[in-house]
Amino acid sequence: MNNIEQLQVTRKQSLKDALEVLDRGGKTIVLLVDDDGKLQRTITDGDIRRLLISGSSLEDSLECMENKSAITAGCDISPSEALELMDLHEIDHIPLIDSSNKPVELLLRRDMQPYIQLSIPHMGSQELKFVQEAFDTNWIAPLGPNVDAFEIELADYVGAQYAAALSSGTAALHLAMRLLDVGPGDLVLCSSFTFVASANPILYQGGTPVFIDSEPASWNMSPAALERALQDAASKGVKPKAIIVTHLYGQSANMQKIMSLANRYDVPVVEDAAESLGGLHQGKHTGTFAKFGVFSFNGNKIITTSGGGMLVSDDRELIERARFLSTQAKESEPFYEHKEVGYNYRMSNVLAGIGRGQLKVLDNRVEARRGIFSRYREGLRELDQINWMPEPEGDFSNRWLSVLSIDPHKTDLKPRDVMDNLAQANIEARHVWKPMHMQPLFRDCQFYRHDDDCYSEYLFNTSICMPSASIMTAEQQETVIRRLIELSWDG
Ligand SMILES: *Cc1c(COP(=O)(O)O)cnc(C)c1O
Repeated sequence: MNNIEQLQVTRKQSLKDALEVLDRGGKTIVLLVDDDGKLQRTITDGDIRRLLISGSSLEDSLECMENKSAITAGCDISPSEALELMDLHEIDHIPLIDSSNKPVELLLRRDMQPYIQLSIPHMGSQELKFVQEAFDTNWIAPLGPNVDAFEIELADYVGAQYAAALSSGTAALHLAMRLLDVGPGDLVLCSSFTFVASANPILYQGGTPVFIDSEPASWNMSPAALERALQDAASKGVKPKAIIVTHLYGQSANMQKIMSLANRYDVPVVEDAAESLGGLHQGKHTGTFAKFGVFSFNGNKIITTSGGGMLVSDDRELIERARFLSTQAKESEPFYEHKEVGYNYRMSNVLAGIGRGQLKVLDNRVEARRGIFSRYREGLRELDQINWMPEPEGDFSNRWLSVLSIDPHKTDLKPRDVMDNLAQANIEARHVWKPMHMQPLFRDCQFYRHDDDCYSEYLFNTSICMPSASIMTAEQQETVIRRLIELSWDG
């Protein structure tokens, strides 16, 4: 490898130089060589950090680095031998050296292990059949039998009366805002701990979002904070136009309490169930408690049509109007007649075919994701520094993503440290959603916290989404678990 020189430093250079080389190289390691170019040791950012903490300055030369022999190998090592050597020494890189001890190449674990992703599509056996039917009958264009069937089948599955298949979950949320007549200046109360797509449709309609914190019991909308927001609005003589409640990562919000508050103040509710398809609250599907439920079939969700969404409701007129608005609000005239603003939000018949196939394996996917969650919890039960996302009594989460929270009182490790470490083994983990009230986009919006503490902010600062794809093998998950166990949690 000719770029190996770009990863090398000598003792004449400073700590700062080494950091720059580290940064530019992007390999999380630099090689310290002597004047003849022979390898002396490896240097990680941790080595430099420890020197700085013990009083060295960035301008000091690397003379202050003590000698430490590096684990190296000859150029003839096989990939499996290299991985074994890395496992043995719990390291993620091995410099390959020639017979005169000069570095020739740097092997990285992350380049040698298969990429373990957060959440990826997982097709069943029938999707292609439905898509083939669409091709055979030339129902490629929007609408067609797959769309009608997908609507009926999904509504059946969740136990809703009616459904409209749309181009995305965001489109479904937007139509819900439109159908609830949200307009300029109208207040809409919305979960803060969610993906931005829950809140954007409020802005599309010119509405004013008011964000509601999470509660510890479900990590979802805090009924206590919601109640204060409703009281405050009522005391000012304002009636919010809607409440958008998200069922995060597959876990339902406390719909009993939220619906009873919403009914008391007579405010309609939209359930953002984009992440919770297949999840239950007290035996009933999320997305079916309120006036509207919204599902998403985006590529990372528990089932996917590559992109798509569904709006469900027990109100037939509203769903018919959703279908009307989603097809450019074309009036039923022999010519193109339009009386109001419409959208191009309908799902295509080809994608609905994928959806029908996916729906057949949904139960299977829920089981797989819940199995992944159990394996994490079981495999990591000795780590008392972490807590898992709760599943309150009587709820059934689809465990779309397995999410853990690091207890800041028990370790100094931050989500970033854990994610960086996993990345070195080619494992993708991510921050949880950054709450909406912390987003620059919503900087001027009102926010109601759970109590004296802001729980969603705490979760954002401490939590991580672990790889949870239903397609992940038990062996891959074992790699992830082992990696976490080997981390130095005690600091
Ligand atoms: C994915 C997601 C959406 C948006 O769905 P799309 O189909 O991608 O538009 C909305 N809300 C939440 C909570 C989501 O995770």
